[in-house]
Amino acid sequence: MPAMSAWVLITGGSRGIGAATALRCAEAGWDVAINYVQDSAAAEALAARLHGLGRRALTLQADVADEAQVVKMFERLDAEGGRLRGLVNNAGIVAPAARLEAMAPERWRRLFDVNVIGTLLCCQQAARRMSTARGGAGGAIVNLSSRAAEFGSGGTYVDYAATKGAVDTLTKGLARELIGEGIRVNGVRPGIIETEIHAASRIDVRAADIAASIPIQRLGRAEEVAEAIAWLLSDAASYTVGALLDVGGGR
Ligand code: NAP
Repeated sequence: MPAMSAWVLITGGSRGIGAATALRCAEAGWDVAINYVQDSAAAEALAARLHGLGRRALTLQADVADEAQVVKMFERLDAEGGRLRGLVNNAGIVAPAARLEAMAPERWRRLFDVNVIGTLLCCQQAARRMSTARGGAGGAIVNLSSRAAEFGSGGTYVDYAATKGAVDTLTKGLARELIGEGIRVNGVRPGIIETEIHAASRIDVRAADIAASIPIQRLGRAEEVAEAIAWLLSDAASYTVGALLDVGGGR
């Protein structure tokens, strides 16, 4: 085990954009902690692939919306040794497409708990470990937002879009709060990416009219988002602070 190995923790790293990011980060030399909430088989299979790339990989089950589980997750990572230098707040959920009047308020609470509170809880734990003011070595945080934060997703999921608007705002604020302590915070705002998340919205993103509505005329791939995340995590992005990087094929 290298004495100064650096961990990146990717929430929701078991599938989709998070899993692609885990692979890209391992290729870039990170040791990767993969958080997931229920799909342990996917997380373990991914960890085996990362081991195959010669990196340390750890799977960490936790619901990011639950403070006690988040605290325990970071403590388990501490126990592995090596410094936490990267955090990707990628865990996120959507809900069935609906108009506002048909939505049950419980879904708003769960969306905000996972997408916003989960991001805040993980940022808090990571900042306590990375802050140079607390003896840390600095680091980088990347928060997954969405192009929906800008468009608002009227008629489908204004609540989900609002959670991502909150993520954008906390990203900009934390970037300014933490840069003096060696922590760069940035956001990535994907457009429509081919992952399993769309099953929950019940929108058929493979319908031809959806691709036709995107200037690049196709959906994005998880790997294309992972590339942007890995760059923001890297020292190559050393002067990039509080940026919201759109990865949406022109939309
Ligand atoms: P996905 O394929 O549905 O994967 C979601 C991941 O999040 C899974 O690893 C899942 O774990 C994990 N997760 C869900 N709830 C969690 C919780 N409470 N605690 C911990 N982990 C949890 O999603 P994706 O499409 O890759 O999306 C990743 C991020 O990008 C999300 O924040 C999403 O809002 C954002 N985004 C996606 C798109 C898109 O078109 N795909 C567009 C814009 C933004 P399990 O495997 O254990 O279920």
